[in-house]
Amino acid sequence: MSLLKIVHYPDPVLLTPAKPVTDNEFNPELAAVVENMFETMVAAGGVGLAAPQVGISRRLFVMGIPGEDDSVRRVAFINPEVIYQEGEQSDEEGCLSFPGLFQLVKREMRVVVRADDLKGERFEMDLTNLAARCVLHETDHCDGIVFLDRMSPLKRGIAKSKIKRLQKTGKWE
Ligand SMILES: [Zn+2]
Repeated sequence: MSLLKIVHYPDPVLLTPAKPVTDNEFNPELAAVVENMFETMVAAGGVGLAAPQVGISRRLFVMGIPGEDDSVRRVAFINPEVIYQEGEQSDEEGCLSFPGLFQLVKREMRVVVRADDLKGERFEMDLTNLAARCVLHETDHCDGIVFLDRMSPLKRGIAKSKIKRLQKTGKWE
């Protein structure tokens, strides 16, 4: 196991649609990448992490889904597709590729996501609230979309000037 380097905006890998994971790639190497992504996510204090955020331009993300007790279920979503979404929620959102930046983002309240597991078997999950927000945020990463693109123009302007300030002071590499 090893921690991976998280790339920060505006690294081009974050702005490029990622390629699907192909059938012959469901192997121990993929499982090791996923394990390293989980470790990296936990170490960075995130709830989700997409492959492009660690410089791997593939359609894949990992996420911790809170259980009914204090447990967190680790789920890897390979080749994810949001097949249904409804409702609306508005909350502050952050991103490990935008260190220190939190901004209000509107998202759907509920999603049904379909993806492959590590064995290449399709599964579906029906999620709401933070988990739904996380799936939408991470699936966007697979499409080369960052949460800046989901902000209102006003909020995006505020976020961009904050990023510029952080870059000038060397707090953003
Ligand atoms: Zn993110």
